[in-house]
Formats: sequence, C-alpha cells, structure tokens
Amino acid sequence: MIQEQHQARTVGGTPQAVGHASLRRTNLSLVLRHLREHGSTSRSDIAEATGLHRATVSNLMVELLDRRLVQEVGVDHAGAVGRPRRAVALHGAHIGALGLELNVDYIAVHGVDLGGNVLVDRRLGFDAAGSGPSRSLRELGLTAREAIEEMTRAGADPAGIGVAVPGLVDVDHGVVAFAPNLDWHDVPLAARLSSALGPLRVPVTVDNDANLAALAEYTSGVAAGTADMVYLTGEVGVGGGIIVDGRLLRGADGFSGEVGHLPVDPSGGRCGCGRFGCWETKVGLAALVRMATPGRAYGPGSGPVPDPEERVAEIARDLAAGDRQTLVAVAEAGRWLGLGGSILVNLFNPRVIVVGGYFATLADWMLPFAQAELERLVVAGPAARCRFVASDHGFGAASRGAANVVINQIVNDPTAIMRPTPQPSGT
Ligand SMILES: [Zn+2]
Repeated sequence: MIQEQHQARTVGGTPQAVGHASLRRTNLSLVLRHLREHGSTSRSDIAEATGLHRATVSNLMVELLDRRLVQEVGVDHAGAVGRPRRAVALHGAHIGALGLELNVDYIAVHGVDLGGNVLVDRRLGFDAAGSGPSRSLRELGLTAREAIEEMTRAGADPAGIGVAVPGLVDVDHGVVAFAPNLDWHDVPLAARLSSALGPLRVPVTVDNDANLAALAEYTSGVAAGTADMVYLTGEVGVGGGIIVDGRLLRGADGFSGEVGHLPVDPSGGRCGCGRFGCWETKVGLAALVRMATPGRAYGPGSGPVPDPEERVAEIARDLAAGDRQTLVAVAEAGRWLGLGGSILVNLFNPRVIVVGGYFATLADWMLPFAQAELERLVVAGPAARCRFVASDHGFGAASRGAANVVINQIVNDPTAIMRPTPQPSGT
C-alpha cells in the first residue's frame, strides 16, 4: 500500500500549486523528522520547536495520521502546567525499508520498520563473482522476495528497497556502470530487480556499498556525527565512503571513493579492475588470504565460497595461535592500510577513518601497524589527528545503510506513502 516513489514535481499544474505542494511536503517532513529525533511529544511543542504555526502543525498532523505515519499516544505530562496535552509519536510499524547488499562472496539483508525495529538481518554466502549478473540478480530477487514476505508477516510493508553493490553506480538510473570484482559492466540492476519482483512493485534504488556503509556510520556508528570521516570497506574489494563537512562526497558523476584502485605499487599484482598495483591488491581480503593462507585463496575452482566471516575467523584463530606466516601477512596488510590511509588524510583531512568488514574483525592486529604508518607518512604528521577506528556494524554495514536511505526518503517526502485504501462498504 505504499508509494508513488517519484516526487510530485510534475503534478499540480500551476507554479503556485507546485510551490504549495512542495512547501507542504517540506513541512510534513519537518514534523516527521522532529518526531523521529525526539520521540512522542505534543503538537504545541512541535510548533515551538519547528517554528510552524500551531494551526499548521494540527493541519499537517491530520495528514500524517491519515497516512498512518504518526499515532496518538495518550497524554503528554512532561513539564506541563494546566491541562494535559495529547501527544503524538511516530507510528510506522507498518512501513518497512529493505536494504540488500550484493558483494563478491555474499548477499546481506537488513529490513527495518520506520520505528527502527529490525525485522530481518542476515547474510548468505553466495559466489556473485563467479555467477554473472543474471544468476546473481535471480538470487538477489529470491532473497528480496523472502525478506519482503517476512516483513509483511511482521506487519510492515516495504516502502522501498535499497541495494548496495561494490562498484561504480549511476544512482539516478539504478545502473551498475562497472563493478571490477564482479566483472559487471552497465547492468541495469534497479530495473531488473524490479521486474524480478513482478507485482510486488516496491521501488528499487542502487548505490555504492562504501557510500551506503559510510552513511550508516555517520548515522549510527562508532563515530556517528563526525563531520569529516572516511569509511573503508574491508572486503575482497576496498571502497571508500568519504564524508566531508557532514555530506557524502560523490563527485561529478557519482564515482568518487574508488580508493581501492589508488595505484600504490606500479610493480604490483594485477587488480580486478585490470590495472596493476591498486591498493586493494595489498589490503583487500583476497590479498590477505593469499598471503596468510595461500592454500585457501580466492579463485576459480576453489570450491563452494565460504562466507567472508568464516575466512576471517580462520585467520584470527591462526593469529591467536601465533602462526608466523599469518602474523607477518596481517602486519604487512596493516602497513599498506596505513599507507593508503595517509593519502586519504592528505587529501581530505578526516578526523577518523572508520574501517569495516575484515579490517574491523582483525583490528587489534592490524590497526597498530596502520596507525603507525599513517602517522609516519601524513604530511601534517600528528597535527592531522586522525585515528583508525573499527566499525561495529560488521559485514552487513552496507545493507543497513541501504535500508537507512529508504527511511530517509520516506522522512524527506512523507507524501510518497499512500493513504490506506478505505474499506469498501456494501460491495
Ligand atoms: Zn584496481
């Protein structure tokens, strides 16, 4: 019962009507955001906090109640003098947001409702790199369907699906322009996933995995709210989500953040992108596995693809047991992490570099080497005051970020949530 995903820009007719619709959408969003941030409160408190007239707030509230985005929650006594006031709160238990991540060796799913309750959260080992776009999208479609059914059974209809992929994404058209480690070129992921979902008709958006994970970190991670931060995915590929002055840096075509392909060693090995000596050939999970446990390296014919967490758990066990080859490999990867990090600090001067994926799992072993190398190489030296910090979002960070984006779309434009259809009477 959701959506007209695209905004009402073309509706309305006269410029005045369009202006009025847009103002109303902005005000609805303002009220919803206030409720999201402050919990249950009264209409007059909302009016005071937002600067809107009391009558305007009451009027907006009628529409938000009608769309079942808010609910009356009894009486607000907080600090009240005189008669108690009726309070309202975000409702949203029936509105869902589904985040998916398709990565080289897994699919992650994260489904939440508008109230922030997690309804689905899991990861499945899947050899996307070896499966090609068609099989991968079929699998992604099946996973999405299952998640939608689970969410619907829990009472929340997904209002949108966000998909994270490790590559260059044309966000406006939902097309994966190039994903080096999947070997995908110009795959219209949003359109194909939508058609795989058939009559479910949930709008699909697509974005780069590191960008989405960075947004999740900025919203609710270990360094949440840090205006200047870099997030690094520690997967087979390494991507960066760069937040500058509180905003995600996208660049002219949306292709920024491809830090895994910084050429750090001209005489180095071949990268998934076809070039040589890219940063991810030094610090990507495949590079570490190759150095630490060559017998279990990634590659064709290496059998069923284990979940990255299993691979990293093996490495952690070897480290704890003092295995020399593994200790040397992890220290080496840590130093390369610091070297690449120093380039990012020289460019963006972030306060923190949040590391996800396997970098976070092996943080105790890797980050001391990375931090020392960073401080040695950054031109500002200790004055740059940048720390590596391990994310606690795990390998599913990007799927969480993808769900977040859907939630933000709803909060930014509550009119995209359709009013429930009235029950037919007498037919
Ligand atoms: Zn590369």
